[in-house]
Amino acid sequence: MRIVLVGPPGAGKGTQATVLAKTLSIPHISTGDLFRANISQGTELGRRAKAFMDAGDLVPDEVTISMAKDRMEQADAAGGFLLDGFPRNVSQAEALDVMLKAEGMSLDAVLDLEVEEDEVVKRLAGRRTCRNDSSHIFHVAYRPPKVEGVCDIDGGELYVREDQTEDAVRNRLDVYHTQTEPIIDYYKAQGLVSTIPALGEVKDVTQRAMDALKK
Ligand code: AMP
Repeated sequence: MRIVLVGPPGAGKGTQATVLAKTLSIPHISTGDLFRANISQGTELGRRAKAFMDAGDLVPDEVTISMAKDRMEQADAAGGFLLDGFPRNVSQAEALDVMLKAEGMSLDAVLDLEVEEDEVVKRLAGRRTCRNDSSHIFHVAYRPPKVEGVCDIDGGELYVREDQTEDAVRNRLDVYHTQTEPIIDYYKAQGLVSTIPALGEVKDVTQRAMDALKK
């Protein structure tokens, strides 16, 4: 299956994408993760992307589209994939259609994760990340560390990631409404969209998504 996952930052796209991709045995392709990998490897692409990401803005299309295309052309994606965070505007959606059409392929479904705006700000702006290991993530309300500002796992300092300050979160939401939301109408016109309420337990949201894919 070829699936696109859409939803505002903080809707749990990454979490759902990981579970769904595993369940469906297709690769999870996250442009955000690809950019972050480039940044940590110190590549030219990472260097170009970083300032846009820190501000919560979109990385320019020419960089993003060619990076996504390279990833989709890898052998493991030949039988399908789950896209998380791409496309993020109508021109990326159009480029994706062109890319797939050239290979005689098309999308099977677009899952739109729906969550309230206040909830998103609370979820994202409360996150604290360990300086030693960015997979050690805490939350001031939902997963507080035992000692404020200190990672439970390795004692590292907890900090607010640059793209998770309240200003950056609000900007990412603005960018989502103005640039990304229009792709939902674009895909609705193709009859591809299922709206998935994204509140509640992770497993319940996954079940809703799987039910929508069976239709
Ligand atoms: P994510 O992890 O999906 O929230 O992405 C983190 C950041 O990477 C975004 O805020 C953007 O700056 C950048 N990014 C990820 N995917 C795209 C995309 N499809 N187009 C432009 N920028 C993107």
